[in-house]
Amino acid sequence: MLIAEVLLQRTTAAAVSSAYVPLVSRDPTQEAVVAAPSKEIGDLIAPLGLAKRVTYLERFSGQLLDRHSGQMPRDRPDLLNLYGVGEYTARSVLAHSHGEPVSAVDTNVERLLSRFFGEDPDKVDIQDLADDLTPPERSSDILHAMLDFAAAVCTARSPNCSDCLIRPGCDSPEAGGETD
Ligand code: SF4
Repeated sequence: MLIAEVLLQRTTAAAVSSAYVPLVSRDPTQEAVVAAPSKEIGDLIAPLGLAKRVTYLERFSGQLLDRHSGQMPRDRPDLLNLYGVGEYTARSVLAHSHGEPVSAVDTNVERLLSRFFGEDPDKVDIQDLADDLTPPERSSDILHAMLDFAAAVCTARSPNCSDCLIRPGCDSPEAGGETD
């Protein structure tokens, strides 16, 4: 999961799939990633750019082995202490790997929720809002739904409000709603 998240940084899922499968096929464990020559990993993910990702993969894999016996920690602080892991990645791992009822807010989810609820993300903690919306189970499903919806309908530059199924409840000016 962490490998996928690192590869997805500033990269589309379609592009990542071409590198992810060869990488995890060749180096399927933390031990394999740590043991693999940097150049070998670099060559596999080179088409994605951002060469620093090789360092991320190697360092957090080593930390997982040293601190967590190669297992993915369930505690957010432990995840945040891994090299290159920030708030979004830690939360995404908790939802996807452990089914924890948390959300992970990136720019797309922030845009969708701030528009729908008519909230200014500079004044309201959208992460809290997203967590409140997350059900106790299948937290990753609603996260995927929000990500896909934001990418397909509630886009950054031209939200398709006229065909949006949730427009009746939307407080965004784009949808004809009002904000404070
Ligand atoms: S109505 Fe428009 S702004 Fe509101 S959620 Fe739908 S696409 Fe986004």
